[in-house]
Amino acid sequence: MRSTTTDMPADILIIEDEKSIRDMLTLALEKQDYKVHSAETVAKAREIMASESIHLALVDWMLPGGSGLEFVRSLRKNPLYRNLPVIMLTARTEEHDITAGLDAGADDYITKPFSPRELQSRIKALLRRSSDFQADTKLTLGPLELDSAAHRLSASGFEVPLGHTEFKLMSFLMQNPDKVFSRSQLLDHVWGTGTFIEERTVDVHILRLRKSLKPFGAESMLDTVRGAGYRLVPSVS
Ligand code: CA
Repeated sequence: MRSTTTDMPADILIIEDEKSIRDMLTLALEKQDYKVHSAETVAKAREIMASESIHLALVDWMLPGGSGLEFVRSLRKNPLYRNLPVIMLTARTEEHDITAGLDAGADDYITKPFSPRELQSRIKALLRRSSDFQADTKLTLGPLELDSAAHRLSASGFEVPLGHTEFKLMSFLMQNPDKVFSRSQLLDHVWGTGTFIEERTVDVHILRLRKSLKPFGAESMLDTVRGAGYRLVPSVS
């Protein structure tokens, strides 16, 4: 993955087995001057990724020869694609499924049928977030150091193992230390969807994050502000 700027057209990879949807997406995105690569299987997608620089992937949930979900999970395990922005295309609307997609490492999702305009605004927002994020590769706060290029958080020099969502949550909080964010603000900034995800999802991830920080004595930095939300304070109390 190479970094992108707003004046350079981004390369978008579409992985979708339904030809009509693939063609519709290709047409809509090419109209917006994106360079589009499309694949109907995960195997073909991997082939394309081996030879092209991709800035963002649109991944269908239900794919032959391995689900889109498994594909996203495998991307997140690969240092090359760990930070690649991914939007899942899904026909399912149940919160449970959407949460599974986001947990696997998707950055956003869009439910079929969708309007090309809505998709374009999601793509734009995600590309913008990912280029902002890459500009600032190292952040430190108290004993914590976050290296976004390496996708790593460390506490006093020791690596803190984190899931994809916890890493994104931590990145956002470290970019905005000592500020209180409500659950819905965190959903907007970190999950970027703000609609179907319930606010208690935030609590689940905060809890996981605290659990990860605990062995390093840093869990108290993640402060619950009663009736308001959460904040990350700059030092261990
Ligand atoms: Ca499909």
